[in-house]
Amino acid sequence: MDCIFCKIFAGEIPSEVVYRDDDILIFKDIDPKAPVHLLAIPGKHIESLNDLTESDTEVLGRLFIKMKDIAADLPELKNGYRIVQNNGKEAGQTVFHMHFHLFGGRRMMWPPG
Ligand code: AMP
Ligand code: ZN
Repeated sequence: MDCIFCKIFAGEIPSEVVYRDDDILIFKDIDPKAPVHLLAIPGKHIESLNDLTESDTEVLGRLFIKMKDIAADLPELKNGYRIVQNNGKEAGQTVFHMHFHLFGGRRMMWPPG
């Protein structure tokens, strides 16, 4: 499958890993939009939120727990951080392997554009 995030998860394309285990990977975005910009992905190829199933419940739960733990360890995020998931082209999704952006280290705008 020609999926850049599957290749990153498999280690075929290098990434700056913040956390990894058998099921999930958290790594630095190559084109950061904030002082802290991480991507959190399941290893399983899931195109978008629309393709989630009950069997993904545990992995997705662990992904969020890990994002929260990492955020707690980063001093830049002590005053807050944002998790974003672009779901579909119109929302800005460009990589069709479901991922969550974790942003922080600057004041976030609301509403997002
Ligand atoms: P999205 O637009 O929500 O699909 O987000 C895709 C994100 O993947 C963008 O923020 C890109 O900068 C990031 N990205 C694309 N290729 C790589 C890569 N090789 N390593 C790290 N991040 C990447
Ligand atoms: Zn994939």
